[in-house]
Amino acid sequence: MPAAAGPGGRKPLISGNWKMNHTHLDAIAVVQKLAYSLSPADYDRAEVSVHPAFTALRSVQTLLDADEVPIALGAQDVYFEDSGAFTGEVSPVMLAKLNVAYVIVGHSERRQHFGESDELVNKKLLAVLRHQMRPILCVGETLDEREAGTTEPKVLGQLEAGLQGVPAEAMASVVVAYEPIWAIGTGRNASPEDAEAVCKSVRAWLGERYGAGVAGQVRVQYGGSVTPGNIAELMAEPDIDGALVGGASLDAERFAQIARLGQPAR
Ligand code: PEP
Repeated sequence: MPAAAGPGGRKPLISGNWKMNHTHLDAIAVVQKLAYSLSPADYDRAEVSVHPAFTALRSVQTLLDADEVPIALGAQDVYFEDSGAFTGEVSPVMLAKLNVAYVIVGHSERRQHFGESDELVNKKLLAVLRHQMRPILCVGETLDEREAGTTEPKVLGQLEAGLQGVPAEAMASVVVAYEPIWAIGTGRNASPEDAEAVCKSVRAWLGERYGAGVAGQVRVQYGGSVTPGNIAELMAEPDIDGALVGGASLDAERFAQIARLGQPAR
């Protein structure tokens, strides 16, 4: 991958979270189209990751490796134990063996629908780091919390809990995704100013905890109804270093436009 760029030398990361969509056959088709749409100039501008369902990871990995496509493979979740009697779970060892580079932890849908606690999210994050992959730690407030003016304590509290036990030297590998829950899948994205305000607070918190050098290296994504139409204005903000994209990442052409950060295709 080319050297990092952008504010503080951070290369933006555009991640497609496909959630429970796309069979392995559909996933291959989307990645093929994406690889065809993106040019070396696009990969220079931003790093791109795709996060298919577990059932499609192997197929997508094979395609990326065989065609030497510079798209990073990502997972949507992981369990924190390496192996054992945990029916239905997938271990970090299994993901690392598939060349998974990024693993989403603490997505709000996991927290909401599957009762994941901050403590569990932290164990998952540490497991990802232990296996030399990069966690994407999701944090974000509900609409009630935003309206009550408690966005910052909620987000910083999730950050504090999720990053327990992470040493400064590992922190540059961690990506933080600020995802206001009210913006996920609703078509109502946070304004660039509101998203920037929270991402800036995240970086300030990281600066207090780990020092300005580390805080300047950590990528902070925004997620929540990102589309080809709003990516450029979000990316114009100094503390937004990419996007975690759900719905708009399912279609190769729309996701390619987002990965180009709103720039025209070349
Ligand atoms: C997400 O799944 O993390 C997400 C932000 O979804 P969407 O882009 O559909 O709002």
